[in-house]
Amino acid sequence: MKDQESSRQEEVPAATGTEPRKIEELRSNIYRFGGEKPGSHVYLIKGAAKNALIDTGVTAKFPLLKDRLSEVGLRVFDIGLVILTHEHFDHIGAATFFHETAVLAAHRLAANKLELQDEFVTANKYRNVPCKPFWVDIWLEDGAIIDLGNYRLRVVHTPGHTSGCICLYEPKEQLLFSGDTVFAGGTLSDTAGSGNVSDYMNSVQRLNSLKIREIYPGHGKLSHTPDEDLPRAVEYAQTLLNNCKAFFEAFIKSRELKEKEGYWQERPQ
Ligand SMILES: [Zn+2]
Repeated sequence: MKDQESSRQEEVPAATGTEPRKIEELRSNIYRFGGEKPGSHVYLIKGAAKNALIDTGVTAKFPLLKDRLSEVGLRVFDIGLVILTHEHFDHIGAATFFHETAVLAAHRLAANKLELQDEFVTANKYRNVPCKPFWVDIWLEDGAIIDLGNYRLRVVHTPGHTSGCICLYEPKEQLLFSGDTVFAGGTLSDTAGSGNVSDYMNSVQRLNSLKIREIYPGHGKLSHTPDEDLPRAVEYAQTLLNNCKAFFEAFIKSRELKEKEGYWQERPQ
């Protein structure tokens, strides 16, 4: 699987600095720009109707993103649509540079947090990464179709990692752009601010019911074995639920013990 992936990878020396420009053509007119830490991968679909980016990486890596677009013959204003898989800083930071020339889209639960600059959820302050504000033009809902001419993307709302997570499903080629919902090997992300485990469970079960040939996640390797990885993701989600139950059972036992020992009684001054 690794050999297959590396054979597709095109390493282009950077014009300035030491950062590699990793550009992979995954399918006809679908490219992955490898994530530069702390940013996510950026996917480009050269559409017959509009060129679309899926996620943008962080603000500071925008010059690199511009170079990568140029490598595939595009300029910033050639991008007509930017779709954000969720509201985390590492996926949305460079979106601000597209808002004058492209339409920006995210699930409504992500869009709301982005427009209100809810930094607890976007997590940029916590990581000390600057994020400039921008408007989200289209607030997406589950089931929305984005028609790029040569590819159609169906929005699948997959809350769990955050409340505003979406995956984008391309039914013709059976591709899934999964953001931070599920990674190669069926690995799940954390349940960050606004996320929760039970929604996560429901989301991966829904994904497991789709016919998927390849998963293109927001970080790490692609998955060429979704038939193995998605059932594993469901198992991991069940483990998370079980761990939560075990944690609270232990917590309640500990509280009962403290009550028995008079721990909560007011102590004399
Ligand atoms: Zn995330």
